[in-house]
Formats: sequence, C-alpha cells, structure tokens
Amino acid sequence: MASEFTEYICTQCGTQYAKTERPPETCRICADERQFVNPHGQQWTTHARLKRAYRNTVHSQGPGVTGIGVEPLVGIGQRALLVRGVDGNVLWDCIPLLDDGLAELIHALGGLRAIAVSHPHFHTCMVDWAHTFGCPVYIHSDNRQWVMRPDSSIRFWEGETMELDGGMTLVRCGGHFPGSAILHHDRDGGEIFTGDTFHVNPDRRTVGIMYSFPNYVPVSAATVRRVSRAIESFEFRRIYGQWWDAVITEGSKDSICRSAERYIAAIEGKYE
Ligand SMILES: [Zn+2]
Ligand SMILES: [Zn+2]
Repeated sequence: MASEFTEYICTQCGTQYAKTERPPETCRICADERQFVNPHGQQWTTHARLKRAYRNTVHSQGPGVTGIGVEPLVGIGQRALLVRGVDGNVLWDCIPLLDDGLAELIHALGGLRAIAVSHPHFHTCMVDWAHTFGCPVYIHSDNRQWVMRPDSSIRFWEGETMELDGGMTLVRCGGHFPGSAILHHDRDGGEIFTGDTFHVNPDRRTVGIMYSFPNYVPVSAATVRRVSRAIESFEFRRIYGQWWDAVITEGSKDSICRSAERYIAAIEGKYE
C-alpha cells in the first residue's frame, strides 16, 4: 500500500498533529497529567474520516452566542462558541470537526475574523478552521509547546491581555495551564468565556479551578487567588463555561469570589 502523509487526530482528545507518514507513538496532550490516555490504547483518526461518520450540531447558548459541537461525541466532547460581535464573528475555542454544511452556514453569517483558543484541550483542528475561514488563531505564547500542528495562521500573544477589537479582550488567567486565557466581551453588562479556567459547575452558580479535571488534581490556594484576580477589573454578568449550557447568567462576579473562597477553605483543611 502506498504511504500517505496525513494530519492525524487523537480520538481521545481530538488534537490534530502535523502531517506524518505514520501516526505519532503517543498523544502529548493525553499523556500529560491534565488529560488521560485511552485505557484501551492510543487511537488515531483523520479529519476526512470524521467528516464521513460525524456531523456538526448547532444550538444557541445565549444572546449572540451559538454553540457548535460534534455528534456522535468525539474527543472530550468539546464544543466551540460562535461569538457574534459588532466587528464580525469570533470563534471561541475549537472542535475536531468542521463539516461542509457548517462551513457554508458560517460563511453565510459573515465568516470568522478570528479564532481564539483558551488552552490546549480545545486546540483540536484549529488550523483546518483557520484555513477554511482565512483568519488567525490566537494562542497565549505560554502554551506554545502544546501546539501540535504549527502553522502560519497561529499568532502567539504575550503578556496579560490582548485586545481583539469590537469590545473583545483576551485575558491570560493561568491556573489550569500557564497560558490559559479567557475572552471578555463588553456588551450587555459584559460576558466572559472561560474554557476550563473557570469550570462552571452543575449548579450553574459556582465554578471550579483545577490543574486536572478528569484526574481531580487541584491547584494551590495561591493559584486560585491569582486566577481570580486576573479578571477582577473586568465587568461581566454572564459566564460561558466549558460545555453545553454551562452558563451562569447573573451574579457571575460573586460566583467566582464565593467559589474561590470555598476552594481555598477546602484546600486549607477547613472542612475536615
Ligand atoms: Zn490526545
Ligand atoms: Zn482543560
């Protein structure tokens, strides 16, 4: 059989790698302690194969915010958010599949002016998305080592904040990853898009901050303080978290304060 160079995708986390003749030995994202290697063994797929067996799903997540996912579930079940702003659309976080119907729909809505990704668990197929829409992908430079498919569309930003225009700002919070970032949008009282930086809990009133969510590995009290402080000066009413419908609609600043206090109390042994 003729060999074929392909950008392989890890089926466990949905991360796409630079073109190789054979699949990589291991997935670096899964082998890291913040994720996990498939207990049945490392497996790989490709975007072409995903396009044959999976499809994109689209559901509203709030005013001007459309959730985009994949069915059946692939990777860690990531969903991205299409944030519609005055200066055009920004894709927050990314997913392993972009089917033709969805690409057409987003083009009809004006395309994408930028993609911004919170941290490596959502890098997935960001380069394929950037090529389709001819837009840049913003990644904090402290997460550079986790980019598995380097590409000229990726812009590494540095420092603590970066303006994305249209009232949008990227804010580096750290915590889960050194370059973990959130997106702040100043419309309608303000909203933040947090990825795994502030993990919206099932009660939709509190958030979690963790080094590893699947492996239940916490961060220190000092890190919780630092991550919470990073967004103190921003106004916001809504928090869009990491999964479908993980949204806090009111009292969001207070939710973060109370959650941080509870976390610090727990890690300092006050509940024991
Ligand atoms: Zn992986
Ligand atoms: Zn994560």
